[in-house]
Amino acid sequence: MIPMTDLKAEYETLKGEMDRAIQEVLDSGWFILGAQVRAFEQEFAAYCVAECGVGTGNGTDAISLALRACGIEPGDEVITVPNTAVFTVLAVSAVGAEPVLVDIDPVTYTMDPAKLEGAITQRTRAVVPVHLYGQSADMDPILEIAHRHGLVVIEDACQAHGAQYKGRRVGTLGNAGCFSFYPTKNLGAYGDGGMVVTNDPQVADRLRLLRNGGQQDRYHHAVKGINSRLDELQAAVLRVKLCHLDEWNEVRRARAQEYAGLLEGTGVVTPTEADYARHVYHLYVIRSRQRDALLEHLSGRGIAANIHYPVPVHLQQAYRDLGLSDGSLPVAESCAREVLSLPMYPGLAAEATSCVAKAIREF
Ligand SMILES: *Cc1c(COP(=O)(O)O)cnc(C)c1O
Repeated sequence: MIPMTDLKAEYETLKGEMDRAIQEVLDSGWFILGAQVRAFEQEFAAYCVAECGVGTGNGTDAISLALRACGIEPGDEVITVPNTAVFTVLAVSAVGAEPVLVDIDPVTYTMDPAKLEGAITQRTRAVVPVHLYGQSADMDPILEIAHRHGLVVIEDACQAHGAQYKGRRVGTLGNAGCFSFYPTKNLGAYGDGGMVVTNDPQVADRLRLLRNGGQQDRYHHAVKGINSRLDELQAAVLRVKLCHLDEWNEVRRARAQEYAGLLEGTGVVTPTEADYARHVYHLYVIRSRQRDALLEHLSGRGIAANIHYPVPVHLQQAYRDLGLSDGSLPVAESCAREVLSLPMYPGLAAEATSCVAKAIREF
C-alpha cells in the first residue's frame, strides 16, 4: 500500500520535540492568543520575509479576513480562478463580495494573466491568485494589471508554504498572503489553523481586530469581527514543524524530479516548473486523457491517488448562481477531467515513486 500522505509516520519522526512542545502549552494553562501564537506569527512572517503575521482559525478565514482588512465590502467584485479548493471562493462569498472567475494557464494551472484584464469592471476591487499545487501564479503581470486598475491583490498561498516567485517567497508579493495549516498542507497543524502575512502594519492591525470579534479592548467591540484565532497548541506544533519545512520541501522536489524521469515516455503529462517559480509540490499532479481508468488501475494495485479538483467552482451546485455553464471556462474544465494527484509527502520513499511509476507504465 502506498498512501497519498502519512501523518502518523511523520509524527513518529518528531515525537520527542513535539511532545515536549505540546506539554509546555498544557503546563502553561494558556490556550488562546498567547506566547506561542505571538512567537509563531513572528517566526512564520520572518520565514516568508514579511513584516507581519496574523494567525487565524483556518486558511479560508485568512482569505476572507485579508479581503476585509484591505477594504473589500459586500457587493464588490473579486476575481479568482475556478480550479481551486472551493474554499478560496467561499472566502470571497463570506465577505459578501461577488466572485468573478477567469480561466487558467494550461501549463501551470494558475491564473492566466491574459484573461484578467477583460474581467475587470467598475465594481472590481480585488484579485485573488491561487498558488496551486505548490507553484506560484505568474505574479508580475497580475500585479501590473492590478496596480493599473487600483485593485488589491490577496494571494491564496494555502498550498505553497515556502514556494518562490523570482526568488521571493509567495505570500509577500501582493497586499497580503494567506496560508492554511490544515494537517496535510506542506506546513500542517494537528487541527485547523491559518495565517495572513503582510508588509502593511495597518492591514495587520485590522486583521488582529477582525479575527478577535472586532474587540479593540477586552469587551469593547469597535467593528463586527469574527471569531477566528489560531490556538496555542497548534502554534506550538507549527513552531516545531516550521524548522523542518525547507528540508521537507527539498524532499518533495527530489521526489518530483524522480517521478518526472520515471514517467517520461508514458504519455502522461508531468508538472512543469515555470521559469519564474520554485515549486514546492504540495501535490504532484499529472494529466491523462484516461484519468479515471488510470485511477482505478492504481487503486487496484494499492496505490492511493486523488483528484484535485474533480468539479471546477463554476460547475458546483453551490455556485449555480454565477450562471456559468459547462464550456464557459474550458481550460479549467479540461483539467478537472484529466488531472490526477500521485502520492507525495516528505516521508515518501524513493522506492515508492518507482513503484507508482511502474504501475503507470504498465497501464
Ligand atoms: C486548503 C486550502 C484552502 C482552505 O484552507 P482551510 O485551512 O482548509 O480553510 C484555501 N485555498 C486553497 C487553495 C487550499 O488548498
